[in-house]
Amino acid sequence: MFKLYNLQAETLYYIILGVVIADFLFDTLLDALNAKHFDDPIPAELTDVYDDEKYEKSQEYKKERFKFGLLSSGFSVILTILFLVFEGFAAVDVIAREFSSNPIVIALIFFGIIIIGSDLLTTPFSWYSTFIIEEKYGFNKTSTKTFVIDKLKGLLMTMIVGGGILALIIWFYQIAGEDFWWYGWIVVSVFAVFMNMFYAKLIVPLFNKQTALESGSLRTKIEAYTQKVGFQLDNIFVIDGSKRSTKANAYFSGFGSEKRITLYDTLINDLDEEEIVAVLAHEVGHYKKRHIVFNLIASIATTGFTLWLLSLFVGSPVLSSALSVSDPSFHIGLIAFGILYSPISEVTGLVMNYISRKFEYQADDYASKTYNAQYLISSLKKLSGNTLSNLTPHKTYIFVHYSHPSLLQRFQNLKAGI
Ligand SMILES: [Zn+2]
Repeated sequence: MFKLYNLQAETLYYIILGVVIADFLFDTLLDALNAKHFDDPIPAELTDVYDDEKYEKSQEYKKERFKFGLLSSGFSVILTILFLVFEGFAAVDVIAREFSSNPIVIALIFFGIIIIGSDLLTTPFSWYSTFIIEEKYGFNKTSTKTFVIDKLKGLLMTMIVGGGILALIIWFYQIAGEDFWWYGWIVVSVFAVFMNMFYAKLIVPLFNKQTALESGSLRTKIEAYTQKVGFQLDNIFVIDGSKRSTKANAYFSGFGSEKRITLYDTLINDLDEEEIVAVLAHEVGHYKKRHIVFNLIASIATTGFTLWLLSLFVGSPVLSSALSVSDPSFHIGLIAFGILYSPISEVTGLVMNYISRKFEYQADDYASKTYNAQYLISSLKKLSGNTLSNLTPHKTYIFVHYSHPSLLQRFQNLKAGI
């Protein structure tokens, strides 16, 4: 029996290693496949996105990003493998146990060490990405001070929110055993709905300044549109995205009386007023077609499934033994489960991306029907051009990674609808 148990743990250890390596290989091969098509001719419909000089620049940018991606993902996979081979999780577990015998405190210290450690090791990469690559292509607006403060605020939020939820779930595990999963599910779901409603009020101000869109011709045009489609919208905000990057964006958040549209100041800079209204019409489309509610429900359902699956395995001492930890615990089970779950989350990610792309078409169609397809096309082209985006992504790459259809696909869909 003892032998069989060891054998299971050893097999599981190799499966965990295998999953880490397979995950890396899959992503790298897909990146390479996509990169092979960087120099493909630009589709005729999109030749007006770049002039010659900008096209050159976009080619360099995506190649540099590709190489950097290889380097940073290679670094983290090597680090993960070394950590597994040299029993790093067991070592951190020993350290955490020196401070307390309370399972919740041990778990918090354990994840604290892992998260801060990996953050320290990966910070040089995000530094390089922001201050060397983005800087070189004229995208970066982040100051050193903003970069450091963002890091600290991010860590603090992880500690409070992540630590709080983890502590609660382990406490549920202590009092309810395997049934912890649906207690945890209720808490996480309530939290998700709450965050969806109040994200803009509670979290965004920690990182950005947002102001109501001032009255003027843009606001008048937006209000004329929302009135026409019968969309009650009191909250139109402008956010100082230019504090970090020149890249533009717009998004929808909340629902009911809390619903709001947030426009980046960079978007207002880059686009004409009609184009901004077209982007906003696309966002209204997401709301009207109930995509916001669907996404929320889908993420709650996925969370429930994940927690349920976790409840089946987390108590098994084989998980701990696979990571060379003798005392089974929730946090070690969670780490092993987290790695083993990644192929499943790859699949759920595929499904969610597929649905998301369908939704993007629907939102585009909505904007086209209720406002103007031409303005949306020109805004999408401008935004793609300004971010030096890849106009020749590979089909498989789109299928796996893209939450939005490619520019060409959106163009063709919008043209077909006119
Ligand atoms: Zn969209």
